[in-house]
Amino acid sequence: MKDCIFCKIANGEIPTDILYENEHVLAFKDINPQAPLHLLIIPKKHITSAIQLEETDYDEIMPAVFRAINHLAKEFKFYEKGYRIVNNCGQDGGQTVGHLHFHLLGGRQLQWPPG
Ligand code: C5P
Repeated sequence: MKDCIFCKIANGEIPTDILYENEHVLAFKDINPQAPLHLLIIPKKHITSAIQLEETDYDEIMPAVFRAINHLAKEFKFYEKGYRIVNNCGQDGGQTVGHLHFHLLGGRQLQWPPG
């Protein structure tokens, strides 16, 4: 999508250090980290939010997302102490970028409940 910042990252228009990539998704560091390690996993295809997932996405995108998360959790050794996967969906969910993304947060004790 033309004006989508994450589409621009996905297609290379905005140069970004890509930490993981497979056929369907890629991962990079969040520019405003909320934990010592804060990564974003996004589909290459533009999907506005989780509520916009289409039937084929359940079979293609979502397994790729969790494959990426597990790969990164092992690579960055999150799995040793735990981590959090977050998807903010829509306005009340706190979503600010309209391209589906999953936050992977780790490296400190995270609090619950969220604000
Ligand atoms: O879930 P939410 O939509 O609020 O998260 C968007 C995230 O995208 C924020 O954590 C923000 O720091 C990150 N971001 C980024 N690079 C950009 C724009 C936003 O990492 N160019």
